[in-house]
Amino acid sequence: MIKTITILGSTGSIGTQALEVCKKLGIQVQALTAKSNIALLEKQIREYKPKAAAVYDKEKAKILKENISDLDIPVYSQMEGLCKIAADIESDIVLNSVVGMVGLKPTLEAINNKRHIALANKETLVAGGELVTRAARENGVKIIPVDSEHSAIFQCMQGMNDKKELKKIILTASGGPFFGKKMKDLENITKEQALKHPNWSMGAKITIDSATMMNKGLEIAEAKWLFDIDEKDIDVVIHRESIIHSMIEYKDNSVIAQMGVADMRVPIQYAITYPQRYPSLAAELDLTQISTLTFFKPDYDTFLCLKACKLALQKGGLYMAVANGANEQAVELFLKDEIKFLDIGNIVLKAVNTIDVSDEITLENILKADNDARNFVLCHFNKK
Ligand code: MN
Repeated sequence: MIKTITILGSTGSIGTQALEVCKKLGIQVQALTAKSNIALLEKQIREYKPKAAAVYDKEKAKILKENISDLDIPVYSQMEGLCKIAADIESDIVLNSVVGMVGLKPTLEAINNKRHIALANKETLVAGGELVTRAARENGVKIIPVDSEHSAIFQCMQGMNDKKELKKIILTASGGPFFGKKMKDLENITKEQALKHPNWSMGAKITIDSATMMNKGLEIAEAKWLFDIDEKDIDVVIHRESIIHSMIEYKDNSVIAQMGVADMRVPIQYAITYPQRYPSLAAELDLTQISTLTFFKPDYDTFLCLKACKLALQKGGLYMAVANGANEQAVELFLKDEIKFLDIGNIVLKAVNTIDVSDEITLENILKADNDARNFVLCHFNKK
């Protein structure tokens, strides 16, 4: 098993659960980073004693540095600091659990320094899939999924004899809090309603993405890159109970599913200990308690984010970077009560239909497509 880990985004939902897992497994934490929550980061630093830390927010980084001046730990900041941690701090694996596009550069830095990646930052693969997977191949680096669906697929594939025998991936989706609702029911949805997820306890961004089903659109792209599979061969099935975390289907129509209670500490731990398994902090699955598992088709006419992602994947190239950038900006505005819930899907679809992108996939062009999409959203709602 690995002995050391660096966690990018340690104060978020995945980061805090990853630290619990590391504590249980006795893994040495080499470095921790946070966006701005320095109170929690300081607590984590005092408990886990990493060799370095970084805070994305420059002012907060300064304050943290003063607050931990009794410890001999450097505190870096901004994108430069995140990249420095990813590149320079020795560790067996880098867990990237930051939220959003901000995770892309540090992921590339870690890969280029030949560090294996446990990836919870889906935007990294969604927008930069081609670049990231190419870099991983060239550096002989493994990217192990932390996202529960992708961990499930990865686990189902462990018994796979030949990639050619795989017919399709069946991504399960909980459907979120608005399953079964139509456009007219969703007109006046508040932030508070959208932030209530039926099965999973997660950060704000991903919870909104689950409510709009953007999350599943992003996960189709994530699966495409992680498993090198055509998006046409990735199906989405609504599974309300979140017990089956995803499935694969072989060409003889045999379907393999991975199941368990909805607890992120299982996929986090598997990404860290792969290919080994250890007892986990999650509860045992009791199927007789659950008794029924249900499945439905997704509603592409109501959940326009899902439609937009399908379209972006068909268009290919940098269009998923556009969909992702537009969504990140729209979610930010929604969380500030500046736009309505349905505006998110409308604007993401519009961005994918309207914005022109370069055919050439480079880091600069990915970041430009992302930026163009954010500006498109801001201009549309007159926030700029
Ligand atoms: Mn997921």
